[in-house]
Amino acid sequence: MPNSENLPSSAVAFPPAAEVLFDQLADAVYLIDPESSRIVWGNRKAWESLGLSREDVLDHSVLSLQMDVHGLPQWSEIATAIRSTDCFRFIGRHRHQQGYELAVEVNTTHFELDGRSYFLSVARDITRRVAQEDSTPRREKQLWFALNEATDGLWDWDVATGVLFFSPQLKRMLGYGPDEMAPVLETWSDNVHPEDAPGVMAVLQEHLQGRRTRYEAEYRIRNRNGHYIWVHDRGRVCEYGPDGQPLRAVGMVQDISTRKQMELQLQALASSDMLTGLANRYQGTTFLKSQTELCQRLGLPLGLAFLDIDNFKAINDVYGHLTGDRVLQEVGRAVKGAVRGADLVCRWGGEEFIVIAPNTTAEQMALVAEKVRLAVLNELTGQEPPVTISVGVAASSGRAIDSNALMARADSALYRAKDKGRNRVELAPEE
Ligand code: GH3
Ligand code: MG
Ligand code: MG
Repeated sequence: MPNSENLPSSAVAFPPAAEVLFDQLADAVYLIDPESSRIVWGNRKAWESLGLSREDVLDHSVLSLQMDVHGLPQWSEIATAIRSTDCFRFIGRHRHQQGYELAVEVNTTHFELDGRSYFLSVARDITRRVAQEDSTPRREKQLWFALNEATDGLWDWDVATGVLFFSPQLKRMLGYGPDEMAPVLETWSDNVHPEDAPGVMAVLQEHLQGRRTRYEAEYRIRNRNGHYIWVHDRGRVCEYGPDGQPLRAVGMVQDISTRKQMELQLQALASSDMLTGLANRYQGTTFLKSQTELCQRLGLPLGLAFLDIDNFKAINDVYGHLTGDRVLQEVGRAVKGAVRGADLVCRWGGEEFIVIAPNTTAEQMALVAEKVRLAVLNELTGQEPPVTISVGVAASSGRAIDSNALMARADSALYRAKDKGRNRVELAPEE
């Protein structure tokens, strides 16, 4: 194999005659390690079509070439789909070194050799074929452009017959080829995320019945690999029958996965405490409010514990703030480990934490608090003097719950615990 001394160690070598043959092929051929997604061998077309050198393409991940595959989790879903079929066909886009994209039709098969598993992908450049479909009159050309090149996918639904047209771009967004996706409503509705489907269908029905001026929804939809993407979908009825019944509706779908991921990340950042990773005060307040309403409605008790680290100022003064921070993290971990998954542990501020426990009576909450106190004592070893906490506990009976009063009662119980010498649990008197 030419230049083999320059190639990465995981590269695969073939007899020179085979290399020569493969290099004459008009299609790009890639041999891929399914586990790592790395390309371990490619023919001449494989690197030339991407504007790369042979060395560049070897040991690259296919993820860096494919514009429609993002990240290893999605790759592993695709890998599962490839393994489960004889030949996996995929219409996608390859990224050329100079920045433009190539439309490719990729056929991937899988096989084992010397106990190792491989994927063999043959990629055919279909850019020209796609462009040739454009030899149509001007108006149709514009329509073709709108359907193929617009970043939004389009749909056109014949409400009466149930035929639902999906534009090529919409199919591409979901990882399907131009000839795939049966033009029926179920192709869409069966793939909407089960958690989102009821809301989406309700909005659609309201629009069809004239109770909304348009249909608009953000939801998750499953793509060809079984992976969910976030979309923004909006449309409206554009033709009505003589009795005002909807005949035809058209709409547009936009992939908003990137924005949605950022939103979810921001949400996580905004609701968690940087130092301990626990819920922050904002999330604690929100959770307390929602659980107060829920427990009140269901007539369940709600328990609350207010925790404060004893003599924490001295820990900072003697050992420094970094040790203080570490103690806060460890206390947070110990508290979280001692409560149920349904309970929320929140860093209320400074060295104060609260535990909110739905469906928990005062007596049960006092036991939880004692368990938490012991967990801190036992798990934070190596600190001299030992780290201890004081806890004030209160619970409401489940009828009319006032969350502010509940907090105030737990807080004054905490003061009593401090007064009585710290490292103890005090239960607030009954309401
Ligand atoms: P007590 O037993 O009465 O609760 O005494 P204490 O020393 O724990 O109480 P105090 O409220 O006087 O001290 C709390 C200290 O917590 C003061 C503050 O500097 C420190 N603190 C608050 N937030 C942080 C933090 O994020 N990191 C560190 N290292 N210290 C913090
Ligand atoms: Mg304090
Ligand atoms: Mg304190």
